[in-house]
Parts: sequence; structure tokens; C-alpha cells
Amino acid sequence: MFEAMSKEEKKHLCDVSDEGEGASLLFCKICGKLLAPRPDSSYFTVLGMRDTFPLNLQDLEKNYLARQRLLHPDQFVLKSEEERFEAQEHTILLNEAYRTLKSPSLRGYHLLSLKKKKEDVFDKTQDPLFLMNMMEEREQMEALNTQNDIKEASNRIKEHLQGLEKEMGEAFDVENLQKASQLLDHFQYRLQLYKLLQAKLL
Ligand SMILES: [Zn+2]
Repeated sequence: MFEAMSKEEKKHLCDVSDEGEGASLLFCKICGKLLAPRPDSSYFTVLGMRDTFPLNLQDLEKNYLARQRLLHPDQFVLKSEEERFEAQEHTILLNEAYRTLKSPSLRGYHLLSLKKKKEDVFDKTQDPLFLMNMMEEREQMEALNTQNDIKEASNRIKEHLQGLEKEMGEAFDVENLQKASQLLDHFQYRLQLYKLLQAKLL
């Protein structure tokens, strides 16, 4: 009996690698010790979200806060130095994951990097017409000077951004990564314009 137990202990390596649910993946199932972050975790896994482009921002925040609580330094006051260190590492990763997934463009680029195969090369050359239009549009935006005009233009761009977000979701859905990549770049351009206008709003 005693021998069997010590054998069991020797086998225990604090490496529970089955697919558990969300936050439970942080801790060893047997001894409850906080495990080191897995180097291959995607930001979706870190936050317990499915790796899809559209995501529920409320769930995202809920999962973020739940993990933040579990990793809070107060929980580790009586724990080993190693575990306190791991808690800090997890927190850094968690914050980075949250920052990334919250932003549609960063989330898109992250998802693209996950889905991309080694041999995938996306054509980054932009349609020259698109670039010209964007430059023209930028000049027009910079010339706007009444608050009303700025607000209107800004609302238009916001709508466009929402449309692009939807299109990106569809492109990822059918695994059209080339298209997703292009849409992401468009989204980035528009987002810059949007920010430019927001800065001009009082
Ligand atoms: Zn353990």
C-alpha cells in the first residue's frame, strides 16, 4: 500500500496536459500547483475562448477577470517563490492576450498567424487604386474643419469598419486567409483614419 503510493507520487509530474476547461488548465489537477504557461498556447486558449474571429466581448472580459483573480498576488502569499514567479508570468501573458483579442485587427492578425501554414504567403501588394483612394480620402479628412463634418465622416468610417469586421469573420469562416489578410490591411488603414478624426473631435 505504502509502496504503491510512493510510486504514484513519482509518476506525478504536475503536467496535466489533457484538454480541461479554461481556467482549470492553469493548475495541476492533482496537487493544485500553478503550472508554468505553455509556450504553445494561443491567446484564445489563454482566455478560454474559441479561436474564431467574431467573439463575444462580454465573455472575453468575464474570462479575463476570472483569470486575473486566480492569478492575483494575494493568492500566492503563502506559496513558493516558483509559483509566485509563474503567477507573474501568467499575468503578463494574460494581459497581452486580452489586449490582443479585444482589438479586432490584432485579433485578426493573431488568428491569421495561427491558421497560416508554413507555405502560405499572402500577397501584400495593395491594389494601386485602393491606395490612391485612401490617400485622397485622407486628404479630405484632414481638410474637414467643422465638428459636424468631422462627426459625420467619423460615423461613416465607423460603419465601414463594422462592415469590414463582418467580412473578415466570413473570410476566416471559409478559411480564405488571403482575403482575411487583405481585409485586415484595409481595416488598419480605415482605423488610422478613424483615429485621425477622433483626435480632431472636441
Ligand atoms: Zn501537481
